Amino acid sequence: MDSVLERLESRTQRSREVFQRTREVVAQEVVGTVDMPYPLYIEKAKGSRMWDVDGNEYIDMTMGFGPHILGHAPDVVVDAVTEAVGRGLQFGLHNPYQEPLASLMAEAAPCADKVVFMNSGTEATMYGVRVARAYTGKNKIGMFDGGYHGAHDQVLAGARRESSRTRPVARGLGGGIPLETTENVVLLPYREDEAFQIIRERKDELAVVMIEGVQSSNPRLDHGDFLRKLQQVCKECDVLFLIDEVITGFRLGYGGAQEYFDVMPDLAAYGKIMGGGAPIGALAGSDEFMQVFTPSRESSEGGRTGPRRIFSGGTFSGNPISMIAGHAALSHLKENPALYSQLEERGGRLADDVNSFCTGEELPVQMMSAQSMFYLRFQRGAINSSRDVDSSLHDAEIQFYLHLLDRGVVVPGIHLGFISTAHTEEDVDEIVDAMKESLKDVRKMGMI
Ligand code: PLP
Repeated sequence: MDSVLERLESRTQRSREVFQRTREVVAQEVVGTVDMPYPLYIEKAKGSRMWDVDGNEYIDMTMGFGPHILGHAPDVVVDAVTEAVGRGLQFGLHNPYQEPLASLMAEAAPCADKVVFMNSGTEATMYGVRVARAYTGKNKIGMFDGGYHGAHDQVLAGARRESSRTRPVARGLGGGIPLETTENVVLLPYREDEAFQIIRERKDELAVVMIEGVQSSNPRLDHGDFLRKLQQVCKECDVLFLIDEVITGFRLGYGGAQEYFDVMPDLAAYGKIMGGGAPIGALAGSDEFMQVFTPSRESSEGGRTGPRRIFSGGTFSGNPISMIAGHAALSHLKENPALYSQLEERGGRLADDVNSFCTGEELPVQMMSAQSMFYLRFQRGAINSSRDVDSSLHDAEIQFYLHLLDRGVVVPGIHLGFISTAHTEEDVDEIVDAMKESLKDVRKMGMI
C-alpha cells in the first residue's frame, strides 16, 4: 500500500510543477500547508471549501489565516467589491468609503473613539507602539512570552529558552533585527502574576503593554481575570494597555476580546476580519491617545498643545476596495448576531468531540480552542503558557496533518485552525471524523 505522502504526491503533481517554477523567482513564500516536499497551490475557494491547482477539493481550516469568518468569497462581500472595482482600485486622496467602516468599528470596539486605517495587522501594532511612545515619552514595549504581533522589528521577540519562566528574557526572532530594538522589549510571563510585578518595576521605561485577546499559540478563554488585572496594573503605572485584536476582533463576538472579557484597553490593533478578506489593518483608541495622529493645534497662548505628533501614511491605507469589503462583512455580522452563537456552538462541538475521543482512547493529544479557533496539541500535560509546550511528539504531529490532508481537511503549517459561518454541521462532522481517523493512523504507526 502506498504511504500517505506517496498518495498525496501522486494527486498533486501540478502543485509540484508550480513549486518548481515559483522557487526560481520567489525567495520565500508565506506560511505553507503541511509538511510536504512542496506546498499545495490553491486556485480557488468558496464557503468552507478550497480547490488546489490539481482540482482536489478540501474542507479548509486555514480560512486565509483568519479573515474569512463568513467563509471564502461570501456573496455579500464579492457583490460589493465587484460593484466597486470599476470605479477605481485606489485613489491616494480621501474617499467616502472610510467613514462608514470607521463608524462601524468605533461602534463595535469599546475603546474606540477614532480609527486609523493601515494595510496589515503588522502595521497596526507598529503604529500602536509609535502612538504609545509619542504619548508617554517612554520607549520600552511589554509583550508576553508566546505572543505574536506581526512581522516588524519592534515586536519580533521571543523568550530565550534558558531564561526563567517567570522572568523571560527577550531575543530577536531571526536575523536582521538590531540588538537595540530587542533591548526595548520587556518580555512578560503569560498568565503569571509576576508579570504585574515586572510592569510595576519597569513602569518608568514602559510605554505600552501589548497582549493578544487570545494567544494564537494558546487558544483558550479562561484568562479574563488576567486581562482585567493587567488593565488595572497598566493604568496604575501610567503604561498604555494595547489589546491586539488582529485575530479576535469580530471573531470572539462582534465586540471582540474587549467585549468578551469585559476589558477596556487604551488602544486596540485590528486586521483580518475587518477587511472582509481584503488587505487591512487598523488602530483604534480614544481621542486622548489618537490625537497624536492629527496635526497639533495652537493653544490660546500660541504654543503647540499635547503630545508630539507622529508620522503616519501609506499609499494603500484606507483604499476603497478594503473599505468596501470590510464594510460589507461587518455589516453582515452586525445584522446577523446569531452567526456568533452558531460559530460558538459548532466550534465547541468540534473541540469537545475531538477531546472526548482523545481522552477515551488515552491519546496524548488535546484540542485547545477559543470558539472558532483551534490548536491541536500533541501532549498530555496542562498547557498554561507556551513554556509548557512540549515538542517531543513533533514527528507524530507531522504525520497527523499529512493523514488529515489525505482525508481532505487542510490545517495550515502553523497548525492554527479556524472554522467560519460557512462550515456546516456536516463539515464539522467530517472534520471530526477525519481527525479521529488520522489520529488512529498515527497510533497504528506506533507514534502515539
Ligand atoms: N497580531 C496578531 C495577533 C496576529 O495573529 C497577526 C497575524 O497573524 C498580526 C498581528 C499581523 O497581522 P498581518 O499578518 O496582517 O500583518
